[in-house]
Formats: sequence, C-alpha cells, structure tokens
Amino acid sequence: MKIISKLPHTGTSIFAVMSGLAKEHQAINLSQGFPDYDCHPQLLEFVRKHISGFNQYAPLPGALSLRETICELLQNCYNANYHPETDITITAGATQGIYTSIAAFINQGDEVIVFEPAYDSYIPAIEVHGGIVKPITLEYPNFTINWDVVKNTITNQTKMIIINSPHNPSGTTLGEDDLLQLQALVKDKDILVISDEVYEHMCFDGKKHQSVARFPTLAKQSIIVSSFGKTVHATGWKLGYVAAPKELMNEFRKIHQYLVFCVNHPLQLALAEYLKDASTYQELHHFYQAKRDYFRSLVSGSRFLLEPCSGTYFQLLNYKHITEEKDIDFAIRLTKQKGLATIPLSVFYSDQKQQQLLRFCFAKKDETLEKAAEIICTL
Ligand code: PMP
Ligand code: GLN
Repeated sequence: MKIISKLPHTGTSIFAVMSGLAKEHQAINLSQGFPDYDCHPQLLEFVRKHISGFNQYAPLPGALSLRETICELLQNCYNANYHPETDITITAGATQGIYTSIAAFINQGDEVIVFEPAYDSYIPAIEVHGGIVKPITLEYPNFTINWDVVKNTITNQTKMIIINSPHNPSGTTLGEDDLLQLQALVKDKDILVISDEVYEHMCFDGKKHQSVARFPTLAKQSIIVSSFGKTVHATGWKLGYVAAPKELMNEFRKIHQYLVFCVNHPLQLALAEYLKDASTYQELHHFYQAKRDYFRSLVSGSRFLLEPCSGTYFQLLNYKHITEEKDIDFAIRLTKQKGLATIPLSVFYSDQKQQQLLRFCFAKKDETLEKAAEIICTL
C-alpha cells in the first residue's frame, strides 16, 4: 500500500526519545518534564473515594463540579468570569486541548504565528490541518517577543497566534506589557489566540502569571489551555482544561466530542474536590521556586552557565565553555556515557538552531537533583 504521510518530516517526540534512552542507560532523567514524587495524599484519598460509583461516561464537556472549580480558579487568580456550562471543557491533557483548538479553527492555507523555540505539539497539529506555520524567533537570552516583528508578520491570512507563558522550553515568562501589545495587535481582527498556560501556577520571584484571562478584550478572542498534570504532580493522568468564550467553545466542543467525547470521570471528581482549596494551586510557586533555587545553587560551581528562569520547572544551561558539540549529540553522549538525560533546545526550532543550550527539569526530589548536579559538576 502506498502511504502518503500527513507529517512526512515528523519523527518521534524528543520526550519519548530521551526518556527511552534514559531508561535504556539507567540515566538520571531530567529530560521529559515530569515530577519524580507523587501527588498529595489528600488528592489520592479523593481518587479512592470516587473510583467506585463513577466509572461510566462523564458529561461531554466534563464533570460539572470540576468546571465550577475551574471557574473559581479563574476568578481567584485572574479576576475573570467564565461560565461553567458554556466556557469550560475538560480535556485529555493540554495536548488534546491544543490539538482540538487547532482542528476546530484552522483551515487549508490559514497562517498561524508560532514563537520558537516552540513546544513540540503545535506545528504538527497546524500542518495536519493544512495551516501554514509562520515561525518567529524569541530573542535570546530572555526569549522575549519582538512585537514589531509580530506586527509585520500578520497578514490577511493570519488566523491564529499561539503564545505560551511560562514558557517551555526556555523557562521565561511574558509580562503585562506583552499581553497588552498582543491585545492591541489582534483587536478587531479575526485572529484567534491560543494561550498555552500549563505552567500558570509556576511563576517566580513575585511575578504574577499574565493569563490572557486578565485582559477582557483579549480573552474574548482567546482559548486558554491548561493542564492538571503540572499543577497536582500527575502528568500521567493526562487531564487538562480549556477555557474560552461560548462562541469559541461551541466550535471546540464539536471536535472534542468526536475526538474523545469525554475524559476520565472519577479523576475529574477527585480533582474538583481537591482544587476547591485554592491553596493547592496558589502556593505551588513557593515549592517550585525553592526547587529552582536549590538546583541553581547545586550547579552554580559547574562550567555550565545558568540562563534566566522565571517560571516552569525547567532550567536552561549553556555549555559553551564545555564542548562545541551539537546539542543533540551532547545530550545523547551525556545520557549514554555520564548517566544524565536532558533535552537539547534545537529540536524546538524549525531550523534546528544551535545555541549550546540544554533543558533540565528540576521537578525532582532533592536527592535526584543532588545526584544530577554531581555529574554536571564533573563536566
Ligand atoms: N504545553 C506545554 C508548554 C507543555 O509543557 C506540555 C507538557 N507537559 C503540554 C502542553 C501538554 O500537557 P499535557 O501533558 O497535559 O498534555
Ligand atoms: N511537556 C513535557 C516536557 O516538556 C513532556 C510532555 C510529553 O512527553 N509529551 O518535557
């Protein structure tokens, strides 16, 4: 049979590749982003409670109690009004939220502005739906957006702009001024914003997360995507949510119902009960800021250079004083020979830009970070 690939240039995700290699070589895995500690015992208690009696389909948009809890979260954190009936859908992780949003709104020939380095699921989803990717490079070292470049990239075909703050893989965050510039640029245009906010509760040094939900004009033409995986240390549950005004959510749900219809019911109920206590998410940044600071202090004496990190659970390290190897080659060698797996940054650029940067996930127990730092300090 002749197969005509929809993604002829796409290979296996770097996260699967590096975690696979880490396993094969029994390396410490700071590559794929996931914690090596469990979720809160109280949350697991709620799971035990709901696992009996709720093992049939959830409502199509998600359990109402969880949608209500999300609306409270959006109100508590961003002073934003979203309606649980019409504006929230619970998804199979942020990945499905992003893919479904693109499927719902991108047609053949539509242009989508994406900032690089870009999380790996955006571009393939755009391409599958016939969209044209317009990449814009974030400016090193703070991975800032040049809004003049964005303005000059917008054409009559621009249908969507995807932003992501706190940003994976760079660990940087957008400021209020960025959101205001975006709001001004898309106002009165038929341009939709997807705002990937999966690290919304991990902003450091007193910075506030700039959700599009804080900007009512912008929020009217935006889809917010988030992930419970990050917030409650449960990436394996693959649960997330999407928030958008009713007219956008209507279209989103038309696709959602045929991709998954609904997602894991008992876990939604457990999350709803757990997240009713706002401190579960509002205090998270203290936990991760302490992890960031500990990891940075452990590697500060190494030959790596620490890049800025104001959000997420990722730290970029620059290895220009260590080797001239390509980042992928270095990352593979580190895993195989030194027993430490990381993520090379070039994979998040369409032109595989080489900047001698590796991404390290610090969502790990202190002892894991200490073992990793021991290796880092020998290089
Ligand atoms: N967006 C970003 C920026 C991410 O880092 C991730 C990954 N963890 C996702 C989306 C996907 O989240 P999920 O695992 O909930 O699908
Ligand atoms: N978001 C996680 C990361 O950046 C990985 C998610 C995945 O494996 N697809 O490492």
